[in-house]
Amino acid sequence: MAAGRVQDAAMPSTTPLRTARRLDAVKRSYIREILKVTADPEIISFAGGLPSPDHFPVQAMDRAARAVFAEEGAQALQYAVTEGFPPLRRAIAARYRTRFGWEVNPENVLVTTGSQQALDLLGKVMLDEGDGLLLERPGYLGAIQSFSMFAPRFATVGLGDTGPDTAEMAGRLAERPKLFYCVPNFQNPSGATYSAEARQAVRDLLAGSDTLLVEDDPYGELRFLGEDLPPVAQGVENAVLCGSFSKILAPGLRLGWVVAPDDLYAKLVTAKQAADLHTPSLTQRIASRFLAEEDLDAHVETLRGVYGHRRQVMVEAIGREFPEALEYTEPEGGMFLWCRLPDGLRSEDVFHEAIREKVAFVPGSPFYLDGSDGAFRLNFSNAAPERIEEGIARLGACLRKVV
Ligand code: PMP
Repeated sequence: MAAGRVQDAAMPSTTPLRTARRLDAVKRSYIREILKVTADPEIISFAGGLPSPDHFPVQAMDRAARAVFAEEGAQALQYAVTEGFPPLRRAIAARYRTRFGWEVNPENVLVTTGSQQALDLLGKVMLDEGDGLLLERPGYLGAIQSFSMFAPRFATVGLGDTGPDTAEMAGRLAERPKLFYCVPNFQNPSGATYSAEARQAVRDLLAGSDTLLVEDDPYGELRFLGEDLPPVAQGVENAVLCGSFSKILAPGLRLGWVVAPDDLYAKLVTAKQAADLHTPSLTQRIASRFLAEEDLDAHVETLRGVYGHRRQVMVEAIGREFPEALEYTEPEGGMFLWCRLPDGLRSEDVFHEAIREKVAFVPGSPFYLDGSDGAFRLNFSNAAPERIEEGIARLGACLRKVV
């Protein structure tokens, strides 16, 4: 091969590549792999975590983008500061003030390339090899993948319908993990939401520890039942809060953020400089225009209506079609519902049967560090109501064979 020429990707390398050990323990995202299987249009997929494409605000986004190009085109195409576009940071902080009366200083808001990047940066800043990390069981797969990169010592705390098992959590905190990662609103994968009491219990437990609270909240605005509850991080000194425009605007923007205390903020900025200099100026300015000139609240209200209806259709179809022995969460918001199989059954076995019947979900094992597999995740935001009914009927037929 000529010097300097990159080898064709399809050609096997003759000399083994000496890749870093870092990735040896990191699994490829199971969901991304499943999405390949479910690309078949005949398959009704409840597997992805995709928002409804029919409800992206395409026209309003188009107006915002045109205004950006017309009025600030050159700046939108230029390099920019790492911290993020200042008007966007102010708008993010203002939203916390309006929603919770929480005074977030825009100087503490770091715009990230999706909230997934915030997790990566937090891992880089917080975790040395072997450091303790506590997360929910089951837990968000993308966080497990992201943090795995830093080879931490994982520990988990059981998550029930209204929050973590506080006794177990107290025991785990005694081991002084560096951080506790949680998704208190409509958790991915379980759909569970921390009650007001659970939020306070977690704050109380963390108050006596030097464990950093990492609260990840991409779904909080998508509540269709019950009352909004303030973030666990509100009023907690040793805490960061991650947010995202992926679920309320569009994931293709790749716009998220993290609210962090001053000293941690400075380190996150350094880590972000090393990672990507800054999040694209163009999408930041488009989102900022959208927030200033379009009606995000009305759009979020529409999404709540659409997703609330889809969730209702799915819950009712499950009630009709699934064997009684299955338990399932009835989430108050978000995009996911979690089904527990009777003891001894594995969701991966059901998965293979389901694919034959042309319906897909995500088996439970990737959400557990110990590979437990007695549950599975269903997404209700992506498919239209008729497809949800049809898909649940197909899945019910598979389950009745197995259970
Ligand atoms: N956190 C959680 C809990 C998620 O479910 C997701 C998306 N699936 C993310 C973070 C990442 O979202 P994004 O990078 O698009 O903001």
